[in-house]
Amino acid sequence: MSEEIKTPAANTAAPAAAKTERPARPYMAKKRFESRRKVCKVCAEKIENVDYKNFQFIKSFTMESGKILSRRITGTCAKHQRQITKAVKRDRNLAILPYSLPKK
Ligand SMILES: [Zn+2]
Repeated sequence: MSEEIKTPAANTAAPAAAKTERPARPYMAKKRFESRRKVCKVCAEKIENVDYKNFQFIKSFTMESGKILSRRITGTCAKHQRQITKAVKRDRNLAILPYSLPKK
């Protein structure tokens, strides 16, 4: 009998405890996505100077349309972004990379 009395008491206590654990704003409690740290691709590959001849690599910093991707998106450091823009523009002049491509 004593157990039967105890169990409902425990049941009522458990939701109360859960309520107190819950933060004031439940929608802010859980992160929808985890932000990953952006790392400079050039630094990661240990390339000191970006070479315009390495167009396969430089191409990865441009959009399909031919636009140069911003630092915000790729996560490259300022020094390497400067080198990349120079290399892209050089490659465009040499007709290695396109100035622009038409939208499909
Ligand atoms: Zn870098």
